Amino acid sequence: MSRKPKVLITGGAGFLGSHLCDRCLKEGYEVVAMDNLITGDLENIAHLFGQEGFTFVKHDVTNYTFVEGELDYILHFASPASPIDYLKIPIQTLKVGAMGTHKILGLAKEKGARVLIASTSEVYGDPLIHPQTEDYWGNVNPVGFRGCYDEAKRFMEALTMAYNRFHGVETRIVRIFNTYGPRMRVEDGRVVTAFMSQALRGEDITVFGDGTQTRSFCYCDDLVEGIWRLLHSDYSDPVNIGNPSEISILEFAQEIVDLVGSSSKVVNKPLPQDDPKVRQPDITLAKELLGWEPKVSRQEGTRRTLEYFTKKVLGDSVPQA
Ligand code: UDP
Repeated sequence: MSRKPKVLITGGAGFLGSHLCDRCLKEGYEVVAMDNLITGDLENIAHLFGQEGFTFVKHDVTNYTFVEGELDYILHFASPASPIDYLKIPIQTLKVGAMGTHKILGLAKEKGARVLIASTSEVYGDPLIHPQTEDYWGNVNPVGFRGCYDEAKRFMEALTMAYNRFHGVETRIVRIFNTYGPRMRVEDGRVVTAFMSQALRGEDITVFGDGTQTRSFCYCDDLVEGIWRLLHSDYSDPVNIGNPSEISILEFAQEIVDLVGSSSKVVNKPLPQDDPKVRQPDITLAKELLGWEPKVSRQEGTRRTLEYFTKKVLGDSVPQA
């Protein structure tokens, strides 16, 4: 191809979308970032404005979506992704997973573009097998408050496979497990952001339930590498990308308190409805198929993330070196 490959990144101003914009530009791609900015933030991509090959379009992908000219790839990352968003904007969450995905697949078909959609470990719900392999069908409550996200993502996968099988669209499905890093929204209520900002402010650390529930946290750079490899593979069934290093939420709270060197105390709050009790990716498939595995330890990843949150949360009050 004599021209640069061109990629559309929906949710391009979001946490993961913005890291993908960086990666694609670094690889010499032309990038169109699209976002309606309901949970995304232009600050995440402010450094890209004016850079050659980068364009931003403010648009809600649940409406008719079009991009001028040739299009080679689409990374569909537009979606609220935090349990507090599901309470505040459940209908937008359902719409972007369902109608948004429909528009994106239609665009991919029209352009002959390859599309990678961002699915989630939430398709496994409160899992009855552990760790979770791609062939597990999940245990999801469709009518609980997380249902708007889980079911939208399950529908998204089904629609993607239908476009693949019926229309021959080249599709890729990544199932993303808890991912963290710089550019997460400080107030998104998720555990990494909540614990870090509480520890930095010297506030109580709010552990939901007794904290025995587990998660497995993947640093954003590792995730982006896995997505890049999957995009360029020829595999159209879902692939787990995540870090199998599992930890209980209570232990994680202690790790963050120690990392920050904070005087914060742990307090228990009620466990939200349908909060999965365990979550850990089986990444055998990603290893075999993509030669991928995470490289950044939790110790290193949380240290890098804390640098970002220290500036965000404490801002000008951080003593200058
Ligand atoms: N959690 C917590 N305190 C908080 C926020 C979250 O104990 O202030 C717990 C939450 O109940 C869940 C885990 O941390 O068990 C991860 O929550 P998050 O919202 O980050 O994502 P999830 O994996 O549940 O989608």
